[in-house]
Amino acid sequence: MLTAIVGINWGDEGKGRMVDLLSSDYDVICRYQGGNNAGHTVINDKGKFILNLLPSGILRETTVNVMGNGMVIDLEHLAGEIKSLTDRGINITPDNLKISEKAIVCLPYHKLLDILEEERLADKKFGSTRRGIAPVYSDKYMKKGIRMEDILRPDILRSKVRDILEWKNIVVSGYGHAPIQEEDIMEWLTKYGEIIAPYVTDVSDYLASAADAGKDIMFEAQLGALRDIDFGIYPYTSSSQTLASFAPIGAGIPGYKLDLSIGIMKAYSTCVGEGPFTVEMFGDEAEELRAAGGEYGAATGRPRRVGPFDVPASKYGVSVQGSDYIALTKMDVLSYLDKIPVCTAYEIDGEKTDKFPSGDRLKRAKPVVEYLDGFGDVSSCRSAEELPEAAKKYIEFIERAVGCPVKYVSVGAERDAYIELK
Ligand code: GDP
Ligand code: MG
Repeated sequence: MLTAIVGINWGDEGKGRMVDLLSSDYDVICRYQGGNNAGHTVINDKGKFILNLLPSGILRETTVNVMGNGMVIDLEHLAGEIKSLTDRGINITPDNLKISEKAIVCLPYHKLLDILEEERLADKKFGSTRRGIAPVYSDKYMKKGIRMEDILRPDILRSKVRDILEWKNIVVSGYGHAPIQEEDIMEWLTKYGEIIAPYVTDVSDYLASAADAGKDIMFEAQLGALRDIDFGIYPYTSSSQTLASFAPIGAGIPGYKLDLSIGIMKAYSTCVGEGPFTVEMFGDEAEELRAAGGEYGAATGRPRRVGPFDVPASKYGVSVQGSDYIALTKMDVLSYLDKIPVCTAYEIDGEKTDKFPSGDRLKRAKPVVEYLDGFGDVSSCRSAEELPEAAKKYIEFIERAVGCPVKYVSVGAERDAYIELK
């Protein structure tokens, strides 16, 4: 069984939390795109963890974790993440962590260029996490990337770095910054490369054998549908493919097909960084929702922009993710509301639509808001029978609106705070 767990919205839907819950049935968990701009929060019997690069399955003893070719990996950050988990008693070895030799290394100069560019843009910025993600993906497609396999070959690594820096320093000097020194990069690559090298392997070979042996493989996405480089709110997207159909490619088994696509969808909307966010709330109303949901970025600590559930955006998310069913998260957060606002359509140039637009039309969209009945505290509900009628109505409304069944409802951040619907 090959399953993708992906975000329906702008990210931070609770993917890490749902992977942690559902991974008990899986043998292998793979990250297939993105880098340490992700922040996946998991709260279980071992404590609270925020994972940036490692698949959330690393917290289970029985799963093998894969970081696929579609990822960009900051070696220093990964070494730190491995150390901090190991210090907390999590076992991480080349047996339960396998990193693709084809994944791209995110280097200090990628971070530097990310910061230089955001500063140059000033008030026109894209809201980068400043972790080098856009610059490193650009280099990948310019074919000027360092791959994980290169850190295993110090003999050829230096000449590769030298060639890349010859070009990179033309760019860096354009920002008026001092040239990047070959020695500094080599020192960094050697120091952190030594720590990470034992995990680097032919992941494709491993995954294909696992799939052929009937093992269950789960793909864990970073970010959501609306941040996909092609199908998201470009250019306010991430630089990678966040969609389920990309999962086998980014993990390393492009010839294999997904059996199941599970969409993680939030009971309301949040968005980190810049870009059009039609349903955005402001003032006290926003403060209340942000406080209730603890909506501050896991990777960056930035306050998240918040708003009501967005039907056009979520319906679009479900369709591009090809979701078989939904896990609806953070239902408990809405308990303080007597009337729950939901955006049922957009109004664009005087016309009402529930189709999610792109480009300039999206910027002009205004939300059409309706209200559903509040349902009170659902945080202790563990079965459909225990859910108040109004909560069931809210879920049914969402199922109808996005055209996909809800199978799981999450009512808290802890592993067992969820309801499985029939
Ligand atoms: P991800 O990036 O999709 O993995 O999501 P994040 O971890 O960035 O953000 C989700 C946040 O909501 C985390 O702080 C989770 O601990 C928390 N969370 C997840 N599910 C629920 C839920 O059902 N209720 C509440 N109250 N918090 C949740
Ligand atoms: Mg997150």
